[in-house]
Amino acid sequence: MALLVQKYGGTSVGSVERIDLVAAKVAAARERGHQIVVVVSAMSGETDRLLKLARSVDPRPQPRELDQMLATGEQVTIALLAMALARRGVPARSYQGWQVAIQTDQAYSKARIRNIQTERLLADCKAGTVPVVAGFQGVDEAGNVTTLGRGGSDTTGVALAAALKADECQIYTDVDGVYTTDPRVEPKARRLDRITFEEMLELASLGSKVLQIRSVEFAGKYKVPLRVLSTFQEGPGTLITLEEHSMEEPLISGIAFNRDEAQLTVSGVPDRPGIAAAILGPIGEANIEVDMIVQNVGADGTTDFTFTVHRNDHERAVEIARRVAQELRAKGVRSAVDIVKVSLVGVGMRSHAGIAAKMFRVLAEEGINIRMISTSEIKISVVIEDKYLELSVRALHKAFDLAESRIV
Ligand code: ASP
Ligand code: MG
Repeated sequence: MALLVQKYGGTSVGSVERIDLVAAKVAAARERGHQIVVVVSAMSGETDRLLKLARSVDPRPQPRELDQMLATGEQVTIALLAMALARRGVPARSYQGWQVAIQTDQAYSKARIRNIQTERLLADCKAGTVPVVAGFQGVDEAGNVTTLGRGGSDTTGVALAAALKADECQIYTDVDGVYTTDPRVEPKARRLDRITFEEMLELASLGSKVLQIRSVEFAGKYKVPLRVLSTFQEGPGTLITLEEHSMEEPLISGIAFNRDEAQLTVSGVPDRPGIAAAILGPIGEANIEVDMIVQNVGADGTTDFTFTVHRNDHERAVEIARRVAQELRAKGVRSAVDIVKVSLVGVGMRSHAGIAAKMFRVLAEEGINIRMISTSEIKISVVIEDKYLELSVRALHKAFDLAESRIV
């Protein structure tokens, strides 16, 4: 018998029929002798609808009141699922965050979980009752309702699994696992049986939207075995674990890409100490996150300074860069939004040289120009023109044999 936390996402509870399907799955897992604690999201589209409603009253709603309202989406689905379970003869009780209690800090709309009281949930499990807990929400010290940020139900699931010392946290969603890359770009993309937390973290932060990044960090920190599976299709899904597997360790686990970046270049900057700080300081002060940074040394005592930001921050970043360029007497500022970042991810890179060279060769053979490169221990990213996204992903997927199934 295992204690499992099962989290069902918005599409899995998107209609009463689907909620009943979830109830059937929970009932079946219980039949197999497992203790189940369920976490659910709001019905798909509901959180967006509530957000729009709030913004129609005030474009910048009061954070406390916004969280108060957004938390209602999950309040509906927990109660509906508990009803559906009861109709199937499975005793169940729904809980909002504050009823558990899931205690958080006071940062509305991005609250962090501090502590989870497990007594009620454990008592339910012991009595054979299935607790159904609202994802995405908690309560601060003063009793205010808080929310954990978009996609936060994943984090609720993982945090509950950690607090309850569950055997596994199962994230049920509308895809049947984590893939080597986005199947919409490369139809030969393959589901991975396993992936490490580190790799998953890279893939998630590089734009694969299967799991909220914070939930993966949390799972890694507390060593919660995490599995991504489909609600609608039987299968083992993808297990996210600590272990780096056997000798068969693949070099590359996946290819991620991110279409949400913009590139800025401040050209002809006098090459002297303090330049990077002078350019990036004001960008950081404006709360704009910088991703990749490259500085070239010119022969004439000047340098070009290139960096990327989120596309939503593009215009603001250009404005700031122009101002700084003027102050520094730089030549000017160029920017591009027709770019994409493509990244290879794999813990196998640690012990193998030559992966970057192979990546660059593959791109060169396709006539794809690389505009920026950055590397870490388990990742190589390049910025290229966005029209080459599909071509580059497919060429790399083939060159690194990602379509071939492997032994784990
Ligand atoms: N309902 C929230 C959202 O849409 C939380 C979640 O689904 O994880 O972001
Ligand atoms: Mg989600």
